[in-house]
Amino acid sequence: MEKVSDYFGSMVFDDRIMRARLSGKVYESLSKTITEGKTLDISVANAVAEAMKNWAVENGATHFTHWFQPLTGITAEKHDSFISKSPDGAVIMEFSGKELIQGEPDASSFPSGGLRATFEARGYTAWDPTSYAFIKGKTLYIPTAFCSYGGQVLDKKTPLLRSMEALSREAIRILRLFGRTEAKRVVSSVGPEQEYFLVTREMYDKRPDLRFTGRTLFGARPPKGQELDDHYFGAIKPAVAAFMEDLNKELWKVGILAKTEHNEVAPAQHELAPIYTTTNVATDHNQLTMDIMKSVAAKHGLVCLLHEKPFAGVNGSGKHNNWSISTDDGHNLLSPGDTPYENAQFLLFLCAVIKAVDDYQDLLRISVATAGNDHRLGANEAPPAVISIFLGDELNGILEALEEEKEYLGVKKTVMKLGVDVLPRFNRDTTDRNRTSPFAFTGNKFEFRMVGSSDSIACANIMLNSSVADTLRIYADTLEKADDFEATLHTLIVETIKAHKRIIFNGNGYDDAWIHEATEKRGLMNYRTTADCIPHLMDEKNVEMLTRMKVYTPEELRSRRDIILENYTKTILIEANTMVDMARTQIAPAIEDYLSSVAKAAKAKMAVVPTLKCGYEKKIIEDLSLLLDEITTKLDSLEAEIVTVRGVEDIIKQSELVRDVLIPLMSELRLPCDKAEMLTERSYWPFPVYADLLFGVK
Ligand code: ADP
Ligand code: MG
Repeated sequence: MEKVSDYFGSMVFDDRIMRARLSGKVYESLSKTITEGKTLDISVANAVAEAMKNWAVENGATHFTHWFQPLTGITAEKHDSFISKSPDGAVIMEFSGKELIQGEPDASSFPSGGLRATFEARGYTAWDPTSYAFIKGKTLYIPTAFCSYGGQVLDKKTPLLRSMEALSREAIRILRLFGRTEAKRVVSSVGPEQEYFLVTREMYDKRPDLRFTGRTLFGARPPKGQELDDHYFGAIKPAVAAFMEDLNKELWKVGILAKTEHNEVAPAQHELAPIYTTTNVATDHNQLTMDIMKSVAAKHGLVCLLHEKPFAGVNGSGKHNNWSISTDDGHNLLSPGDTPYENAQFLLFLCAVIKAVDDYQDLLRISVATAGNDHRLGANEAPPAVISIFLGDELNGILEALEEEKEYLGVKKTVMKLGVDVLPRFNRDTTDRNRTSPFAFTGNKFEFRMVGSSDSIACANIMLNSSVADTLRIYADTLEKADDFEATLHTLIVETIKAHKRIIFNGNGYDDAWIHEATEKRGLMNYRTTADCIPHLMDEKNVEMLTRMKVYTPEELRSRRDIILENYTKTILIEANTMVDMARTQIAPAIEDYLSSVAKAAKAKMAVVPTLKCGYEKKIIEDLSLLLDEITTKLDSLEAEIVTVRGVEDIIKQSELVRDVLIPLMSELRLPCDKAEMLTERSYWPFPVYADLLFGVK
């Protein structure tokens, strides 16, 4: 048996390989670039490129690609081979420092939201040395950022790196105030738990909705769904186990620390979690994980569905973004410490997160907004579209005691005042978990549960990092000027709790009563759909904060708003068109076929026994005929509205029309189709039904 340690990271140009293959001097300058952001000398780049190419060729690579994350949400790549002509007619493998550092993908058709006129044609990609290059198939993948020549950012990696920079800068200011001089940088780390569904390729191929939109647009509830909870953490079926084994191996080869895997709540739903790492790398790894999931599934005759809501009536899929911040010398700043002084520092960082999440609820909601994710967040499913923070009883008690300057009962007779000697030592409590909260503190990290399963985690972390950075800036500005540090710190914490406690909620987030309380009593935001929230990206406070933190320029924000809305509208239009097509060319004819066979049967029966009433046949014929008429009416309205939506120029108005007219009409068309499915003999139905899809993998 092959040992995991033998092949783990075997396809990654990681620190081990760099150390072994680069000269001491080159290795040192590259390390400085990676850890301190120092610019890279071209001679160093040449040496790195040469070593990278030799390593890649030895491992079977013939091509290289600058791998980047345009605003489409998926990753993009353009492959070039290493080959070059040698004077004697032979071929040599070449790769220069310039090719490593910068590339020019002919990327004129990636969305740029007006940032780059098409005639300007190109953007360029720039090597991100903080994320290791790796080999997939026969290609060396070089993680890169993607910009226009004007320097406008056209990808998700660049703002993420900028937000990490901002967070580091402001967090270091706070640490210095606490006398912490060792730490040079602060990094945010993420462990994203990835949910997904597996269906068989055979059934998938028969469903145009799955193929074109990633989700089922029709389908009656199967007799059995997830009500028994027997799938959650249940035994893994052989075909799924084989898939997971292969998946782990492929992930491990490219250095992804895939760690846990289990069945999820819905039938055919599963989860994979890696060990957390630096946010930038975790983001690249998550994109790569999604790619590899799809390709490994294909090898097993399966299809991996990453859509947020592939099936109505059973849970959708998300991506739990476990986020923490720590110093480069390994101190987790969200971990309660051993001494009161450390705990004061912990409480300040905790307060920064609370204030940031409350002040920028809208940005967090925006960061996870897609047409697919609206099915989870806006519907009766966890987590809700309202953002709140779960802290657990212990922390909650401590914050309450601080706010009211009263005794904290968890610790004997301690008056909560943030003086160094009176702040109690408290245990981090990992036992009380709340699964319904969109943003939960889990001992030493926050778990942001609203990210969609198919989405990049970049946007969520950009907003988290930036908003917390900006809050830390406010704190640092105040504390640096303070004459009495402890008193000012105390006031800062108490004031934050008072001003932002409305965002803390420890109850059941699924509850309708909570949504009512949140919006009516607490004034929290509830943006149910993408069309509702995205325009707020341009709200003054948001633009100000994100430009102040140097994460986006106002133009970059405007272009992103337009791209997201356009994407929303396009996605729903594709779904609507697919529905029309399936209903007209598959569902209606299937119903008609079945109707005529029933009619034929009735006629045949009456020919034999003329007195028969044929009540059974008549009922079916009547019910199905009425449904067929309803389908036709709804089809006509949907088709007409598709034309209307297409004709609207203003993208905000267009997205509102999609939300208010198109989506409701799609549900109205689905209803009679699903009813008809339940009345039609199975062999007539033109594609596999829910029961086949959800229980088809053996
Ligand atoms: P659960 O499903 O119980 O929430 P999992 O084990 O499935 O837990 O996933 C937890 C995720 O959180 C893993 O990816 C793990 O590596 C990550 N994680 C653990 N500690 C931290 C931390 N300090 N910062 C960021 N992520 C963390
Ligand atoms: Mg988990």
